[in-house]
Amino acid sequence: MKFASSISSTKLSENPDPAKTLRSETLMASAAGAFSRRFLLLSPLPLSSAHSFALKPSLSFHRLLSRNRGASASMCLSAPVVVDAQTTDRWKPMCLYHTQGKCTKMDDALHMKTFNHDFLVDLKSNIRSLNKLRPQNLDYLLVLDLEGKVEILEFPVVMIDAKSMDFIDSFHRFVRPTGMSEQRINEYIEGKYGKLGVDRVWHDTAIPFKEVLGEFEQWLNNHDLWVKEQGGLLNRAAFVTCGNWDLKTKIPEQCKVSKIKTPSYFMEWINLKDIYLNFYKRRATGMMTMLRELDIPILGSHHLGIDDTKNITRVLQRMLADGAVMQITAKRSTSAPGDVKFLFKNRIR
Ligand SMILES: [Zn+2]
Repeated sequence: MKFASSISSTKLSENPDPAKTLRSETLMASAAGAFSRRFLLLSPLPLSSAHSFALKPSLSFHRLLSRNRGASASMCLSAPVVVDAQTTDRWKPMCLYHTQGKCTKMDDALHMKTFNHDFLVDLKSNIRSLNKLRPQNLDYLLVLDLEGKVEILEFPVVMIDAKSMDFIDSFHRFVRPTGMSEQRINEYIEGKYGKLGVDRVWHDTAIPFKEVLGEFEQWLNNHDLWVKEQGGLLNRAAFVTCGNWDLKTKIPEQCKVSKIKTPSYFMEWINLKDIYLNFYKRRATGMMTMLRELDIPILGSHHLGIDDTKNITRVLQRMLADGAVMQITAKRSTSAPGDVKFLFKNRIR
């Protein structure tokens, strides 16, 4: 079964106001490849909030305030403002409420004009290259790029059809740490997402890892990729990660903190860097190197998990288009889950 959206498992009525978003992003515009900085404000900052955070003053933020100085308080609360958005006709940041199935502003024209609500915009497969596509053993590829060093903060997945390279669906959640004090979480989030301008949406939406996995398992089930009662590996699908860290190290660490057994679907994966090295016969140390070498412009904010996941997906689509065959590159031993066996001798850690 294929689902076009990831909204199914979310109760919209429980959503906080998604308009309260300030995103200040650094991006590389895709068409020109030129570096540009832009600041977007959908609605002015909330005047009172349970999650009240001081945003770091920036030049553009002050410019924004001075532009709005004449507006009345009520206008400030209701009238959306777009600032310095000259690049929006070229590329738009994802609505991070929508990616989590929590956007309530789909009927707001300005919101829709400002934020991208369609993964296909950035993940169109290249029809010209389809003649090089090779038969694949897997039906679906789930690109995953976790964020968070101490605990996982973001769990983004992009699902593509391995044979046609088409985007199928996505699953994205911000994750609230469970083994940290509130103060520590606040500092952690400000340091990580504050500088990307998305700390507000993180605080509005983050849920504990255990709940994220519950919703993810429902999503897998909707796509006939995994059934909880049966357990086992994914059904004709595999995770694709950039390196082994996500599934070899971070997931088991987080499962320990969250006091759950590492789920069976995390027991094998494809390290895209290994496939890349053995297909192109060149080393790639990370996502940025692969993008650069393949001449694929980076979109969005590096280290925002959902944007990195999209960029890795673009590398994957290119590799499929060039004729690469995706194979499981790492597998945990069932008798000793601490042991991981690797497909290639020639690989990057
Ligand atoms: Zn939205």
